Amino acid sequence: MIISTDRAKRPSDFVRESVKIEGKGFCPFCYGNESKTPPEILAYGRNGGPRNTPGWSVRVVPNKFPALGIEGDLDREGEGMFDRMNGVGAHEVIIETPNHQNTLATLPVRAIEEVLWAYRDRVLDLKNDKRFRYALIFKNHGDAAGASLEHSHSQLIALPIVPKRVLEEIEGARHYYREKERCIFCDVIHQETETGVRVIGENDLFITLAPYAPRFPFEMWLLPKQHGSSFENNQSPVYASLARAFKDNLMRMDAVLDHPAYNFVLHTSPIGEESNEHYHWHFEIMPKLTKVAGFEWGTGFYICPTPPEEAAQFLRQADVSTVST
Ligand SMILES: [Zn+2]
Ligand SMILES: [Zn+2]
Ligand SMILES: [Zn+2]
Repeated sequence: MIISTDRAKRPSDFVRESVKIEGKGFCPFCYGNESKTPPEILAYGRNGGPRNTPGWSVRVVPNKFPALGIEGDLDREGEGMFDRMNGVGAHEVIIETPNHQNTLATLPVRAIEEVLWAYRDRVLDLKNDKRFRYALIFKNHGDAAGASLEHSHSQLIALPIVPKRVLEEIEGARHYYREKERCIFCDVIHQETETGVRVIGENDLFITLAPYAPRFPFEMWLLPKQHGSSFENNQSPVYASLARAFKDNLMRMDAVLDHPAYNFVLHTSPIGEESNEHYHWHFEIMPKLTKVAGFEWGTGFYICPTPPEEAAQFLRQADVSTVST
């Protein structure tokens, strides 16, 4: 990564559009339009009533335009020197709230916790499908971050392979563990807690850091303080604490960067390797402030115009006390 201190950017230096919820036009995720999505896979909060009707608090449906199809076999085959397989996978949408005006940051902590439970329940269910090796949860918030619908939602894609970026991270962690018999993420947390310069926030069970070598300005990593190798195998206090940490982080980001578009991803252990000493699950949150351009495509380097220590300081100092939880 290249930290470009010469042109160090403060939050106000980034040219961007704040994410605004217009609420115009038809929305398939609002109450009353349940029949306009594929039939629901999961819904919380609707006590009794028929499926695919209003009354839910979190609702999970198949993506209407899935990147991968749920039916069929992988049929791995060679084509000369090339390898191919069918695009088999699950692609689901987690509708985080029935309220069109809410964002994940403005939801009550309890509602965020329900979203996390929905992630967990869906991952646990998809793990029963022997074709899948990885379940990736991610969110695109705002046009600039790739969201096609403004109603707050996240996505889950279950894949028949472990994605390259995740695999590289796991392999790096495995390598470190082999040498030192310690988890690299636990070591990072330990060291960052000692210096404090890149710590954004902390609660009983979670810590948020600006990574030492960020790809993007104001990138944040949210990690459990105690070693844990998989997101889905936790007790309820963990999700409750994670929901509080999530809300705090997103509100800080909204305050400092004026409601930016953002992405987040959940990195957890592959299916079948859930319990291990070397990998430590976490969320990576990336506000969309810069464009990935030729240099990045050509090299794999990223130029980050805000040092992580400065980003952490801005985020730490944000006043989010007036917003109720
Ligand atoms: Zn809506
Ligand atoms: Zn660890
Ligand atoms: Zn990661």
